[in-house]
Amino acid sequence: MKPVDADELFQKTIYIINDGTDDKVLRIVVGISLAETVEARPVKHGKWIKRSGNRYMFCIYDCSECRCPNPIKTKYCPNCGVEMKEENND
Ligand SMILES: [Zn+2]
Repeated sequence: MKPVDADELFQKTIYIINDGTDDKVLRIVVGISLAETVEARPVKHGKWIKRSGNRYMFCIYDCSECRCPNPIKTKYCPNCGVEMKEENND
């Protein structure tokens, strides 16, 4: 999904078809501008950082954003909720 600013799309498209000869395009743009809105915000990503030299027998991963330790690499940090970017280096 690619969120777009429907108001900006409407304004730019109206500018492009300003001569008013193509009402089909205008109806499509109006339809888009009437579509249900969603709240969008930039997605922040983090990564799990393997803690080296810890005194435990198992691995510990720290969230790169909040430093919360986690015994497994989950898709989201259970503390701050940031989405983790996939990396292949253990
Ligand atoms: Zn976190």
